[in-house]
Amino acid sequence: MNSENVDVVVVGSGMAGLFAALAAHEFGLKPIVLEKGPHVGGGTTNSDGVVWVGANHLADAAGIEDTQASALEYCRFMAGGEAIQDNLDTFVTIAPEALRFFEKCGIEFRIIHGLPDHYHGIAPQSLSEGRCLEVELISEDDLPEPRPPLRVPAAAAATPVMTEEIIAWGGPNNRNAWDKEEIARRTDAKIRTRGTGLIAHLMKALLQRNVPILTDVAVSRLIVADGAVCGVVSTLGDEYTARAGVVLAAGGYESNGRLVDQFEGVPHWKSFCPPEITGDGLVMASDIGAAVHLLRDNMQVFLGFEIPGKTAIKDDPAFHLTGIVELFSPHTMVVNKSGERFADESFFQRMIPELKRFDPMLHDYPNLPCFLIFDQQYADQFGFAGGDAGAEIPDWVHRADTLTDLAHLLGVAPEGLANTVERFNSFAESGVDGDYGRGDLAWRIDNQMAREGFNPSLGAILKPPFYGLQLSVTGASSAGLLCDNAGCVINNRSERIPGLYATGNTAAKTELGAGYQAGFSLASGMTFGYLSAKHMAESRVP
Ligand SMILES: Cc1cc2nc3c(=O)[nH]c(=O)nc-3n(C[C@H](O)[C@H](O)[C@H](O)COP(=O)(O)OP(=O)(O)OC[C@H]3O[C@@H](n4cnc5c(N)ncnc54)[C@H](O)[C@@H]3O)c2cc1C
Repeated sequence: MNSENVDVVVVGSGMAGLFAALAAHEFGLKPIVLEKGPHVGGGTTNSDGVVWVGANHLADAAGIEDTQASALEYCRFMAGGEAIQDNLDTFVTIAPEALRFFEKCGIEFRIIHGLPDHYHGIAPQSLSEGRCLEVELISEDDLPEPRPPLRVPAAAAATPVMTEEIIAWGGPNNRNAWDKEEIARRTDAKIRTRGTGLIAHLMKALLQRNVPILTDVAVSRLIVADGAVCGVVSTLGDEYTARAGVVLAAGGYESNGRLVDQFEGVPHWKSFCPPEITGDGLVMASDIGAAVHLLRDNMQVFLGFEIPGKTAIKDDPAFHLTGIVELFSPHTMVVNKSGERFADESFFQRMIPELKRFDPMLHDYPNLPCFLIFDQQYADQFGFAGGDAGAEIPDWVHRADTLTDLAHLLGVAPEGLANTVERFNSFAESGVDGDYGRGDLAWRIDNQMAREGFNPSLGAILKPPFYGLQLSVTGASSAGLLCDNAGCVINNRSERIPGLYATGNTAAKTELGAGYQAGFSLASGMTFGYLSAKHMAESRVP
């Protein structure tokens, strides 16, 4: 059994853990990061890397008007009454300070010009740009050696492109227009962007400061002495003693089927996270009496599918989210077993209540499983599963020359599908979805149709072959550890558990509540990682 003494043990090397470790070091503490998997970065490396910070100094410098009061109003709307007020207020007011703090550590952020708030035009005080940030380009070759391996999902390695560039180059559903030469150059230079880029920046800063990051160390238990958490034990029995505290940043539980069943209550779930994300933080803290908090209306539920035979990294299946490209673009729709549409596919938060609906007469979920349907026009003009427009649709996607034959292949009611397509095609002709308002929201992906003044999301399903496949539900954990506004974990008596902190997806999203906004998650990990470290430094007995 090994034993190591530090001030702060950080469990997990996603963005939340690395932000906390970096802040702990800057506050004069000695941190160590323990990572269960063979790579650094966790599920953060799959992400788009958007960091949402209201009233930030970069927007100010760019002449974009924003205030903390308007950012607070936007976040209160987004929370839908499900946030803890103190935590939400702290998140909004401290995020700009945390951003400046980490910039001084060398993490370079920039505004994503052209990316509006997700509820722009819907929520009060939304902005057309200025709050969504991302990191600058970074090469993996710039990370100091020796170092543990960075987790680089195949999709991130192949598309080292910033979100601002995706918008400027024609949008996510217009990949053929992206600068292929520049992408090839960056791929060779091991340039990392978005979520993987954020982790590379954080790793670089930590390695420059000689903060140890140990991979293949799965923490299994907390050590408690005199009522305070003072260390952890790994599955191999190694002990790591923490003089100031333990930060649980082990992600959510998306890859743990039992916890998904317990808290999500949606059938046909597939994880979009790495296999290591099994709720270990939740389990370890529950062992010592931590309170678990559940969001009732978590808006971070999505539709997608696993790509057969393709892996994100090692044996980890590649999961493709359909919300931004397939479900937004023309010539696609989503139907249930009856062959009926049930919501606006183009704004995925509108789908969630319908996906979760349980019919008291059927004693079943009428909209699950559900199926993506598209035609050859879509295949010709837009990319499928991250591919280019016009690429061959893979042979694991069902196809048929008639809608009736496709319905039989999918197990969908043929008459229902035929009627739905006929009705949908009439909406496509008029440009107005009379049933669900597809494409009518201000938040829209720029595409050629939008530029020409048409509904950017409506197009008839007419041209054979017709394609279809079953979709899976996925999302971010609805439950997490209850924490206060310093990142301290709370028990069911509403008392702090001394020495125990949680951040990132291990913590319940009490600062955000129900709402989905790209960048909330990463900004929350940044802010509460900073605050946890600050609290540990300030509470340390000299
Ligand atoms: C496609 C996609 C796009 C996204 N885009 C955005 C976006 O643009 N902006 C945004 O804010 N959010 C985005 N998200 C969500 C965001 O990526 C996550 O919420 C966030 O990365 C979670 O970070 P984390 O540090 O909490 O967890 P993770 O990054 O998952 O890290 C947790 C780490 O803990 C490790 N671990 C687990 N158990 C143990 C243990 N017992 N011992 C030691 N280590 C352990 C794991 O191996 C993992 O490395 C996106 C998600 C996806 C899937």
